[in-house]
Amino acid sequence: MSTPAEPFAATGRCLCGDVSWGVAGRLPRVGFCHCSLCRKASGTGSNAVLSVRPEHFVWLSGEDKVRGYALASGWSTSFCGRCGCPAPLLGGEGRWFVPAGSLDGQPDLKVSGHIFVADKPAWAVIGDDSPQFPAWPPQG
Ligand SMILES: [Zn+2]
Ligand SMILES: [Zn+2]
Repeated sequence: MSTPAEPFAATGRCLCGDVSWGVAGRLPRVGFCHCSLCRKASGTGSNAVLSVRPEHFVWLSGEDKVRGYALASGWSTSFCGRCGCPAPLLGGEGRWFVPAGSLDGQPDLKVSGHIFVADKPAWAVIGDDSPQFPAWPPQG
């Protein structure tokens, strides 16, 4: 198992600092999911994640502090066991879903798109012109 070489393109950490990680390579675009589950997990109108290839992701601290919650459907979320901040989650397709809002500083990120826009509350206004999909995967 190789570790991505530093310096990372971005690093991130939770509120208390127990959990931290690095992302190597070119930073992927940020994707937003507005489904009712991601809204609950984030507490706002969507989540915002980078889908990171496994060879570009490394834990810097606190992997053992990460807790998770999964539904029978397979949907799951993960968070710091101490401060509750969303934490990177290894998705079913082998990519890491990295919470964009927990990255350190202001990395230059572009938006890839929005999914489950049909579930988006009216007060959550999309402010970019990236593609929008009512559900996911796209129907028809
Ligand atoms: Zn924490
Ligand atoms: Zn979602």
